Amino acid sequence: MKRLVVLGAGESGVGTALLGKQKGYHVFVSDKQKIKPKYKEVLIHNEIEWEEEKHSKAVIMTADVVMKSPGIPDTVPIVKELNHKGIPVISEIEFAAQFTDAIIVGITGSNGKTTTASLTHHILKQGGLNVGLAGNIGQSFAAQVAEGKNDFYVLELSSFQLDGIVNFRPHIAILTNITEDHLDRYEYKFENYINSKFRIVMNQTEADYFVYDADDPVIENWMQHNAVQSQKMPFSITKKVAQGASINNDKITLTIKNKTIEMPTKSLELQGNHNLKNAMAASTVAKLLSIRKATIRESLTNFQSVEHRLETVLKIQNVTYINDSKATNVNATFYALDSMSSPTVWIVGGVDKGNNYEELLPLVNEKVKAIVCLGLDNEKIINTFGNVVPIMTQTESMKDAVQIAYRLADKGDTVLLSPACASFDLFENYEDRGRQFKDAVRNL
Ligand code: ADP
Repeated sequence: MKRLVVLGAGESGVGTALLGKQKGYHVFVSDKQKIKPKYKEVLIHNEIEWEEEKHSKAVIMTADVVMKSPGIPDTVPIVKELNHKGIPVISEIEFAAQFTDAIIVGITGSNGKTTTASLTHHILKQGGLNVGLAGNIGQSFAAQVAEGKNDFYVLELSSFQLDGIVNFRPHIAILTNITEDHLDRYEYKFENYINSKFRIVMNQTEADYFVYDADDPVIENWMQHNAVQSQKMPFSITKKVAQGASINNDKITLTIKNKTIEMPTKSLELQGNHNLKNAMAASTVAKLLSIRKATIRESLTNFQSVEHRLETVLKIQNVTYINDSKATNVNATFYALDSMSSPTVWIVGGVDKGNNYEELLPLVNEKVKAIVCLGLDNEKIINTFGNVVPIMTQTESMKDAVQIAYRLADKGDTVLLSPACASFDLFENYEDRGRQFKDAVRNL
């Protein structure tokens, strides 16, 4: 019996354990931390061996294959030893993909993965396909493969998940954009992170498709110096493309397999240029999978924004409150500010990941009337915007931040939470931050 060791008992680890067991492996799950009760229950119920708060080297080293959860870096001792001994260490995606014949749409990028994955899934579902949504979005791909119900999968893929692939080959790959992120896991070399993202196309063949943002200079540069085997389907809001998606007279123009269809951009539910790009990527996939134009158009119109991503919470005294807590880097906040159409009170701050705020200056100058800093260390934000924005305040409580914003906003303004930073100084995670914002707004 082949031995599968799973490192990390979270969503992807436990899903992999279930699939491994179903496929006849002897499975052992090991987590250096305490395992969450809901996952422990699943392991016990399925009679899968596990340990917590340790990694028993003697057992782990007997593995034929090891699945490593995306949160565990390559540099931890147990992974180094596995590498040294030549035992294959792969990701959930690699493990699970070998057990399904479903058509796979893989989506990666620095920003926009969840939105594009959810939107793509929504359109395909409306088109009547039997489609699952899984991966980085928080639902295990392996667990869904074990259930075996889907003919199609839309997978949100982080660079960490792509680092652990060997043969994984999505029929359609989407790369939304590449900006600096997670450099601590890539020896602080942007180049390593870029190469990691492009692993999504490395096993593709001429029968596959690659959908990507042709306006992104990092992507364009990589494409000029490297070969991609699959059929290229770029999308762009500035250029015309021979195959793929572009914008003409306020219409998305999709040209695929020499057929062209058009859809008005005005009817899109999601706001902002970044969401226009996400919509172009998702509709390209839908068209490649032969979904009807009317279904695509209708799905783009009725898709509600994903929680914590430019999510409109309430309108109070004609002031709109928007929760963009998922904006944990500068690029995401750039697009949030870019999509503001009224004077904005901007709540920003948190744990800085080496942010360069300079690129926001023109937008902040044009749109932001007041800044509320919400973080333990706000020095960089104050230094960058202090001379540009007339009103600048600081607080360490979400409730205060929302009340200050309420007092600063006039009729017709927008209050935007788009932190450009991670949340761990004052909150559990970005979801907690977003929820606290929404609660505070509702209590106004
Ligand atoms: P991810 O899953 O890659 O983190 P999300 O869809 O969760 O991406 O969005 C993260 C943040 O980035 C949100 O603030 C969202 O408004 C913003 N965003 C969404 N799509 C894009 C895009 N194509 N380019 C830049 N920012 C985006």
